[in-house]
Formats: sequence, structure tokens, C-alpha cells
Amino acid sequence: MNASIPGLCRCALHFIMALYVFLQPMLNEKCILCNSNQLSVTEKINTDGLIRLYKKRAGVDVGRFFKEKQINYCTCNNCGLKMYLPQVIGDGRFYDDLQKYKGYYLHEKSEFTEAAKFIHPADDVLEVGSGEGLFVSYISFKSYTGLEFSEDAISKARKIGIHLQNQSVEDHSRENRNKYDVVCCFQVLEHVPNPGKFIKACLDCLKPEGRLIVAVPSADSFIRDAVNFYLNMPPHHASTWTDHALEKLAELNQLRIMHVFHEPLHPMHRIFYNKTAIYNNLGKKFGHSYRMMDKSARSWFLYSLSNIGAHLKNIFSADGTAPVGQSVTFVYQKQF
Ligand SMILES: [Zn+2]
Repeated sequence: MNASIPGLCRCALHFIMALYVFLQPMLNEKCILCNSNQLSVTEKINTDGLIRLYKKRAGVDVGRFFKEKQINYCTCNNCGLKMYLPQVIGDGRFYDDLQKYKGYYLHEKSEFTEAAKFIHPADDVLEVGSGEGLFVSYISFKSYTGLEFSEDAISKARKIGIHLQNQSVEDHSRENRNKYDVVCCFQVLEHVPNPGKFIKACLDCLKPEGRLIVAVPSADSFIRDAVNFYLNMPPHHASTWTDHALEKLAELNQLRIMHVFHEPLHPMHRIFYNKTAIYNNLGKKFGHSYRMMDKSARSWFLYSLSNIGAHLKNIFSADGTAPVGQSVTFVYQKQF
């Protein structure tokens, strides 16, 4: 077939292909975990659409965060982490606004029960991003230190006798090197602007052979396929984590993986799970390609159908089976 293409056209074709390959990596951007510049764009997200989504679904105005008309959902070809660039990180007011939204925090977490198996009564424990200190009631320990930025959460914790510190783990690590047997962070890593630096600070606080427990929303679970799931996008989430990326995190930081736990689906998320599964099955049947954010009429139609189907499925097929849920927990051991 090439023989039928004139030389000049072939050169132009090669130039266009080379330009395409050249433009795929993000110029001047680096991976927020491994610092590689081998990034490719998975999806371009329109920020006006995202602002409208937050307003409509949660009643939260996020317009002040976005300077660009679009942000890129990127994949690091070195470590596998997926991240949004340029970065857009939520502030205290944003999280206060979100907390008013029903169902934002689940107070019963299977990841707490699972993590507690790796904490012993003689352990000094540090929790980073401790919220109201709910994890304390799940564990026995020698000492517990919680770091938290929200004054509201600190105040609530104080009322039940838990004294938290308003401090970053980076600052905490400067005066508390090699101090703790366990450092844990639940649903924190996906919010931080620089997870590489964050993990290093956590490890600085750990004793040699100490345990680092990290729980994040799993990008291997059904939420990977959820359409217009704004809470998985900025300014809420800065990155999304697959098991592969969490394994790479171990490799990059000389950690041994002791345990991996994918939580079963929480009953509260059953409709969301059904909806996502039906939307994607219908999408395949109608030849509709999945996009993380999709404001097309066809997507709206599929979403409406899946919404009805999700509730019907819940009524007629309550079979008690528990598919894999949103969260994954990795327990690592420091090897230095
Ligand atoms: Zn990377």
C-alpha cells in the first residue's frame, strides 16, 4: 500500500505521526509520584462542565479553583499513577462545604477493621489526616498521635478526649524521625499535591521495619468506570491509584508489601455500583465509548436508563453477594 503513496505525502504523514507522538507526553509536566516526564493524556476534561457538575450534584461552588478551560487526566508510563494536571487542590472551605453533603463520610469502614489487625498494644501510632479520630476506637496502642488540618474535626475529636495536632506530616517528620511503629493514612494520598514527598515524610516518622498503612479509593474498582463522578476529580482528588501504582510506590521507597485488602462493596454504594455497571454495559451495546466526564445527549440518555435500571436491579436481585467496593488498603513494611 505504501508504494501507492507519493514520497512527499509519505513524508507529511510521517511528520504528522511524529508530531502526534511528540505532543502526547505532557510538556513541562512531571509525575507527582516518581518525577518521570513520561506522561500521556488519557482524557481532556472541560472545567466549566466540571464546575457545573459540582454545583448540580453537591451544591458546591468550585469555580474559584480553575484558571484553565481544561485539565488533563494523565497516566505516568513509568509508575502507572494517574493524575490531573495542572494540579487543582481543594482548600479548607471546600472540604467544609462537602461535609454538608449527605453521605460524604462513612463512619463504619472495613478498612479500619482490616488495618487494626496490623497494630499491636505496644505500638506507637501516627495517623495522618485523622479526621475526627474515628480510627482510635478500632485499635489498641501504646500511644496515638493524629495530624489533622480541619479545626472543626480537631474540635469534635477533643470532645471525645482525642487531642489532634494541626500539622503537616512533612513538618511533623522533622522532629519525630524513626519514632513510630505504625504510620497510617486513610483516604488521604489521593488528595495531596505531592504523594512522593508525602510518603517520604511518613517513612521518616517510621522506625526501621515499621508498618505504613495506606488506604485509597481503588482505580481498579467500579469507580474507574463511573461517568461524571465529580468526587473522583479535582479539586477533590488530585490522583487515582491502581494496585499497580501502589506496588510501584513500594518499589520506589524500598517497602515490602505485607498485605492488600480490597473492601467488599458497602451497602450504601450498591445503587451507584449497579448504575455504573448498567451504564457501561449499555454503552458497549450502543457503541458509546466511555469518558470520565461525558456531557453528551447520548450519555445523558444512557445514564437515565441506568439510573432506573439500578433501582430495579436493587429491588429484584438483592442476592446478598458483595462485589469489590471502592477502597483498597495496602500494608507496607519499611525495609531500612
Ligand atoms: Zn510516575
